[in-house]
Amino acid sequence: MSSKLLIKGGTLLDPAKGLNEKGDLLSVDGIIEATGKPGAFDSESEAEVLDASGALVSPGLIDIHVHLREPGFEWKETIESGARTAAAGGFTSVCCMPNTNPVIDNAQVVEFILEKSELAGGARVHPIGAISEKLKGECLAPMVELWEAGCVAFSDDGWPVWNSALMRCALEYGKMMNLVLACHEEDTALSHGFSMNESELSVELGLKGMPAAAENVMISRDIELALLTGGRVHFCHVSTARGVELIRRAKKDGAKVTAETAPHYFILDETAVTEYDTSAKMSMPLRKQEDIKGLLEGLADGTIDCVASDHAPHEEDSKRVAFGDASLGILGLQTTVPLLLEKVREGALSLERAIASVTSDARACYGLEQVSLEKGSVADISVIDPDCKITFGKEHNLSLSSNSPFFGRELQGLARYTVVAGRKVFDSEGLYS
Ligand SMILES: [Zn+2]
Repeated sequence: MSSKLLIKGGTLLDPAKGLNEKGDLLSVDGIIEATGKPGAFDSESEAEVLDASGALVSPGLIDIHVHLREPGFEWKETIESGARTAAAGGFTSVCCMPNTNPVIDNAQVVEFILEKSELAGGARVHPIGAISEKLKGECLAPMVELWEAGCVAFSDDGWPVWNSALMRCALEYGKMMNLVLACHEEDTALSHGFSMNESELSVELGLKGMPAAAENVMISRDIELALLTGGRVHFCHVSTARGVELIRRAKKDGAKVTAETAPHYFILDETAVTEYDTSAKMSMPLRKQEDIKGLLEGLADGTIDCVASDHAPHEEDSKRVAFGDASLGILGLQTTVPLLLEKVREGALSLERAIASVTSDARACYGLEQVSLEKGSVADISVIDPDCKITFGKEHNLSLSSNSPFFGRELQGLARYTVVAGRKVFDSEGLYS
């Protein structure tokens, strides 16, 4: 017998297809069968029904930058806990960074992750392979082998590719296969030992800062190398207004570059660390109000293609230490959608642009197959309730870690259901309502 799922009473929102209207959606055996006017499929008596009234029904959301910590750091997060946390955040897919132990620099690790994610029963997990062996920036990782094993992009995230000649070489290889290099842009000679943004505030707090220039010079270098080689660069977690400006210019010049930012960079500024709150310590660091303005303008006009969480779980012991010693990174999978929708409510960007930044435009950054609400698309669907509101607390958090500066904040606009291949992998009942 075929398995049918009917999503009823919502607003079908698929910005890439210009769709924004009330309607119902029917999926059969994991594939979208049809969409229609409200009530169009009420005769499908054997279908499982999801009530989407008052909610947005979107093509499945993707987060192209997360750290799932397995293999090697399973006390922080596992593939299973990460995939389930992602589903609770409204994501049907995530792309996981290779800074695990062992690093994702050989096919066996890729196979391990894909097998684990099959069993996880949450969001789909797409591994990102290393650019260099062991992320050391010395020798290229076997990119073709990693690609064939299922990696969707390449990154040394956590670290920059400090060696410009190696970066050039990776771009030249990448170009032959149309691969994307996702780059963490940091000149470590300028940023060494940093724990926040470099500014008057870092001086006042007595903390070592990372100047915006440490990020911007590496963005500039990789724009030049992208132009030189014709290879594709994706800029991870852009945090500076100047970085946005450089990328805007590079796109005009024809460089094959795309960019992401993370919600914390347009929600919080550097003053979030004033009380030495280690839950607001991450890399890149939080910047200034003028950077927030530049990032939001870049996001609104598409210079910043997408929003990704940079979900980076850490156990309490690594955060409950002196500020300078605390681990870098915060959770993000369950806060990304509501923080993005907060900016929509404030008028900084349109709802369509916000949804595109976590669906079609995010998939395009890595050249991934698109999903849509049209007949024949795989039934990966996110049902988001724009009115659902919580004060974010530990009781809502599904990650194994709890390093978030957003606990205690009101979050509005949360996933009601997440559907992967026509199967419900998240239901908010009991968690948010
Ligand atoms: Zn990074």
